This record gives sequence, C-alpha cells and structure tokens, in this order.
Amino acid sequence: MKKPFLSALLIFSALFSSAQYSFDPKKLAQELKELSSSVMDGRKTGTEGNRKARVYIIDHLKQTGIERYVPNYEQPFSISQAGSLTDGTGGVNVLGVIPGKKKETIVISAHYDHLGSRDGKTYFGADDNASGTAALLAMAEYFKKNTPEHRIILAFFDAEEIGLRGSRYFVSATDLMKENIVLNINMDMVARGDKNELYVCGTYYHPNLKPAVESVPKFEGFKLLFGHDGPSSGEDDWTNQSDQGSFHAKKIPFLYFGVEDHPDYHRATDTFDKINQDFYAKSVETILQSVKALDRSLNQN
Ligand SMILES: [Zn+2]
Repeated sequence: MKKPFLSALLIFSALFSSAQYSFDPKKLAQELKELSSSVMDGRKTGTEGNRKARVYIIDHLKQTGIERYVPNYEQPFSISQAGSLTDGTGGVNVLGVIPGKKKETIVISAHYDHLGSRDGKTYFGADDNASGTAALLAMAEYFKKNTPEHRIILAFFDAEEIGLRGSRYFVSATDLMKENIVLNINMDMVARGDKNELYVCGTYYHPNLKPAVESVPKFEGFKLLFGHDGPSSGEDDWTNQSDQGSFHAKKIPFLYFGVEDHPDYHRATDTFDKINQDFYAKSVETILQSVKALDRSLNQN
C-alpha cells in the first residue's frame, strides 16, 4: 500500500522541481556550452567562429519556428571607423520576430560576438555573452509557445565588443516609431553566480517599469538588485556599457540584466566550467518572468 503512494510522491516532487522553470535548464546550459566551445573560437566579429555562432543561432530559430524579421534573419552592416576592423569586414545582426496581440513591440536582445583568439589564447566568453545568447534562444522557444501581448523582436547583436556597433546600426536602420518599439530588454553576462546577485539597470530612468519587475516570484538564495544607473552610480553606471545604450540614445526605454564584473571578465578564463548552472537557470527564469510581467503591464495605464 505504501509503495505506490511513495512513487507517486516522488514523481510529483520531480515534476514540481522541474516545473519551477519555463524552459529546460539542461538545454540552456548545453547551448551556453556549445556557444562558448573552441569550435566558435571566441566569436569575434568578422571571423569564421563568429559565423558559426550565427549559423547555430539561425538554425535554432528555424527549428523553433521563429519568423525572420529581415531576409534570412541576417542584418549585415559595415564597420569602417578606425579602432575596429580594418579589413572591411562587417558585422551581422540576427533578427527574428514573434507576432503579438498588439502592434507595440518589445526588443529582447543579447550580443553573440566576443573577443576571439589572440596570442594563442581563445577568449571563450561563456558568461560574456554566450549566457545571454542561450537565454534569448530559450525565450524564443517560450514566447513562440506562449503568445505575448506585444510583438517581440529577438535581436542577437554582433560587434558589441567593439563599441555596440550592431545595436547602433539596428536603431539607426529601423524606423523605431513605425515599428512601435516601446522597450528594450538586454541581457549581457547573466550566468555567473559568484555573488548570487543579478542586477537590473534602467529603473532610475524608467521608474514606471519597476513594479512589474518587483512582482516577479523570488528564488531562495538569489538576489535581484536594482541599480548601476543614474548619477549616483558614478563610474559604475552601466547605462551605456552594453547594447541597451544604443536604445537609450534614441530615447527608447530599456532594462538591462547582468552580473557585476568577475575575475574572468574579458579574460581567456571566462569558460563554461565557471558557470554556476543553478544560478544561471534562476537568472534566466527571473528575466523571463520580468519580460512576461512587463508585457502584461505596459500601456495599461
Ligand atoms: Zn558583453
């Protein structure tokens, strides 16, 4: 009599623990691992490794049934100014779209490029930013199955590491008014759980976005903190430190999710084995729930 009850209980608790995530955390970690593997060679803009990462992303979008926002999902752009690429090679953003119930659009973004290889070392960029890229793939899958209120553009930006070039091109090449872009949510470095802290930056400028993020269920031992924005943060102001800066420059509201710099930041040691997979899953779930809450609450008042 007791055994069936016990196995039912075990099955129930197994279901319950996996049910705390809106995606498969193992798949999420696996995709981060592949994007930060030596095959991708550090994903530097204009290189073969970067192209492989792009093919990987596009394949996943196709498998998920995500529509292209631009032909073949690719938005190429040239990089001509000094201090960046000198061989005339450009970058390529990858853009997909999920139709919503209304025309207003949220751009969810993550840069997929990193620093490549130099001096015999590969800069794998597991946290920066294979983590945001794999998170964006998980969100693509989730919002494909769960139709959002807003239309969602999924933006995998290139050339962030050489001055937010991909996102700068996107905001200049897109008619932001006509496309009804009302919010950017950017993810860059969301997997390192060194301090068990994830920051959300941007509510200093957009306090109206705060309640939605605050309403998100909290994980035990995981901290979501507001900050790194506005005058009081001084040198620690992250407003223009990643692609959200390009949207901010065009007066598009933004929220940026990321962790504080860690000892492996922009070093060859930013590798998959340093990722705290438990923290990563909680981080991505928290961001996904924030997107859902914002999607529901925006423009209602
Ligand atoms: Zn980055």
